[in-house]
Amino acid sequence: MTYSLNWDLDSLFTGGIHSAQLKTKLIQIKTDTAALGDLLDRWDVTSDAPNFQQFIKLITQLQAVEAGLAQANLFVSSIGSADIANPAVAPTEDRLRNLETQIQTVSDKLKKVLVQVPDTQFAAMLTQPALQPIAFNLTEMRDAGKELLDDKTENLINQLNLDGKAAWSSHYDSLVATVSVPFHDTDGKPVTLSAGQADNNLLGNADPQYRADLLPAWEQAWADKEQLFADTLNHLAGFRLTEYQAHGVSDFLRAPLKDNRLSAATLKTIWQVVDDNKQFLLDYLDRKAALLGKKHAGWQDVEAPLTLPGGQLHRFTYDEAAAFIIKHYGEFSPKMAALAQKAFENHWIEAEDRAGKAPGGWMESAPETNESRIFMTFTGSPNDVSTLAHELGHAFHSSVMGDLPYLRQGYAMNVAETASTFGELIVADANVKAATSDAEKITLLNAKMDNPVAMFLNIRARFLFETRFYQLRQQKLVTPAELNELMLNAQKEAFGHDLSTYSPHLWASKLHFYIDDLSFYNFPYVFGYLFSLGIYAKAQQTDDFEDQYIALLRDTANMSSEALAQKHLGVDLTQPDFWLAGVDLIKKDVAEFMRLTDPLVNTTPHA
Ligand SMILES: [Zn+2]
Repeated sequence: MTYSLNWDLDSLFTGGIHSAQLKTKLIQIKTDTAALGDLLDRWDVTSDAPNFQQFIKLITQLQAVEAGLAQANLFVSSIGSADIANPAVAPTEDRLRNLETQIQTVSDKLKKVLVQVPDTQFAAMLTQPALQPIAFNLTEMRDAGKELLDDKTENLINQLNLDGKAAWSSHYDSLVATVSVPFHDTDGKPVTLSAGQADNNLLGNADPQYRADLLPAWEQAWADKEQLFADTLNHLAGFRLTEYQAHGVSDFLRAPLKDNRLSAATLKTIWQVVDDNKQFLLDYLDRKAALLGKKHAGWQDVEAPLTLPGGQLHRFTYDEAAAFIIKHYGEFSPKMAALAQKAFENHWIEAEDRAGKAPGGWMESAPETNESRIFMTFTGSPNDVSTLAHELGHAFHSSVMGDLPYLRQGYAMNVAETASTFGELIVADANVKAATSDAEKITLLNAKMDNPVAMFLNIRARFLFETRFYQLRQQKLVTPAELNELMLNAQKEAFGHDLSTYSPHLWASKLHFYIDDLSFYNFPYVFGYLFSLGIYAKAQQTDDFEDQYIALLRDTANMSSEALAQKHLGVDLTQPDFWLAGVDLIKKDVAEFMRLTDPLVNTTPHA
């Protein structure tokens, strides 16, 4: 079988970025949204009772424009990712942002209209067969409506946001594009690295000395512009805090927890489990340092590859990667395997290794056609195969929800990373099992530790930093020096003061702090990772796992995270037990890594 390395976007809209079909679609969405606003103004719950036909029409149309916009968004961002220099993408994206704001305004209005519906009538509405499947989502909207201000003010906030929070976020991208790191290449020849290139080398270059030399140059590049980044971060957070304040909210974690349908108690338990169980990962880092000939690992070594003599990794062709994923997915779930195969066969994936593409990988769903698109750059490493398996896990999640009402497909970020991590775990484990030598196995286990190290240590540090930054920002503008200090202390604390170097400018270099529509873009990853580990542990002991897993995924936008775990796994997320079962799986990997590397470091017996 030969699969194409390029995706097909024509089944979404024909004709590329200037697509006439897309233009027509956007006009249609605009018209429908306006009509929806009018319909909403005229809606009267009492005259609509007892069948609520008008409301059903309203909510169906709202879902249709939202799904239509998502379809258009996917199409345009796909073109932008595959061809970063395309000048027509930004203006089209701007049109989409404006449409999004219009839909948001109508959606906010609907939320407030629901607040006006008396409890008994609202309960009667939810029993309608057409509304029952989205009862949870409608209740969520009504609850959100209770916190909204008057229409005019909400509309103004939405409009100001385009030149406020959203603008600061995109200003960040413009600033990053100006960052360059004067350095040298591996032969010592002077080069100027872009932020992306320097980041890749800092974390991924195989030469420990090269990485160690690069870290100060990297830090200096961000230090040179730290005031600009501090302004951006302060104003982005300031806008957000003012918005919270206007809505009577003083707890800055309230919105991110709500977005993730997660309780503060569960988050507290997760961090407790992480803090109590990081020693084995610090031991792993010490061992890694020893293998690199050092006493302590530096910041630049934490995610670095480890290549031992004879540990040359197997390279995959794209077709081999596809076959490998389909085969190992199939051992857990034939339906996962079938979806992966469909994605390869139907050209849903852009994987070609060529210039002009955006970095990174993502999956987005196309709700109108129940398809997905996956973007990545495939170079043939086992890590790329894991990335592909990760994105296909996302695609599987979307596919099993494809027949549900659009509102019920809106799963949050924390559970979004569950299916992807699960897909990735299957393939990463299969890679380790397929290793033909201990050296190769060590290299692969080391790569597999990137995730837990990121979750337990790096992301833990980001959360500590972000919490303290927001606390301080509630009182004042935070200076670059204070930001550096907050970050350095957070990293030292999270990494148990075990590293020889740190990256105090991570607050400037990490995009995640500058995302506008979601704040605290860190803990959902930890949730998703540990949640999927728990499911993975269960999968290995359960017979009808596939059905249970699909049932769980289909409920991911239909209840709180706690209720989801209780219903489908029978566990209480506010208690440590479930999380600890996942931690045990990582401990096994680390134990294996320690066992295999023991002879390589303990060559002289201790006195
Ligand atoms: Zn993901």
